[in-house]
Amino acid sequence: METKEAIELAIGLIQKSSRIVGFSGAGISTEAGIPDFRGPGGMWEEPGLMDQLSMDGFRNDPATFYKTSVKLFSTIARAQPTRAHRLLVRLERMGKLKAVITQNIDGLHQAAGSTVVYELHGTYRTGHCPKCAMRFEMAPFYSEIEKGRLQFPLCPRCAVAIKPHVVLFGEPLPVEAWKGAVQAASECDLMLVFGSSLVVYPAADLPMIAYDSGARLIIVNLGETAYDHMAAVTIQGKLGDFAEAVFAAIA
Ligand code: NAD
Repeated sequence: METKEAIELAIGLIQKSSRIVGFSGAGISTEAGIPDFRGPGGMWEEPGLMDQLSMDGFRNDPATFYKTSVKLFSTIARAQPTRAHRLLVRLERMGKLKAVITQNIDGLHQAAGSTVVYELHGTYRTGHCPKCAMRFEMAPFYSEIEKGRLQFPLCPRCAVAIKPHVVLFGEPLPVEAWKGAVQAASECDLMLVFGSSLVVYPAADLPMIAYDSGARLIIVNLGETAYDHMAAVTIQGKLGDFAEAVFAAIA
């Protein structure tokens, strides 16, 4: 199918759906300047990064964990929502979209104005002490680490490394976010899958849950995904272009 024809089909599905759920991956934020993991030029091309950003990496060497992750967190802190983030807000305000499920930690859906957001992989903004569970706003620590004045933040009570509320490889997903996401996926009539390679589980189970519950899938991604054959529409292109075309049609 030609891209133009696929976009028109997608617009038609969006127009006739009333219980839409957005499902986003790192690809929705690349046009905001935040690199993804598996797209071209993605962060996984850097050797050793996956180990450093795992739960074992954090436990064994928090200084390296923070040195590496602060580069991403500082980029996120400066980023602004994209047209695709804003499209999901518009659909919510039209009463058509019920929730956004995201694998991202960047908070850009909330910054754009989405009000029901399930953050499956947590957020970079806050953190906690793994021993006493005291909570922290992380921005001041990131700033000190960036300036080279701090290696990693320590809990003032327990003197152990504070962990950001980001789900690392080897950690379970936050239970409430997962439950909300499963419910949203099973109740939607259309899932907009935006910028995800759909290879990270269990998050990637959610489009399958939506599909098995009778929802249509629209997948917009630069590359192919393993779910393309199940989708009513797949568009291999940039989300910004897709969002612009939809905005023009629903204005
Ligand atoms: P991924 O990196 O595995 O895949 C991103 C996909 O988006 C790729 O297939 C790529 O081709 C596509 N893409 C990139 N730019 C695009 C664009 N402009 N338009 C359309 N598609 C585009 O990301 P994932 O599936 O979300 O999963 C990996 C993990 O990465 C998640 O667990 C997430 O927590 C983490 N992550 C988050 C951020 C963030 O918060 N912004 C950034 C990097 C990684």
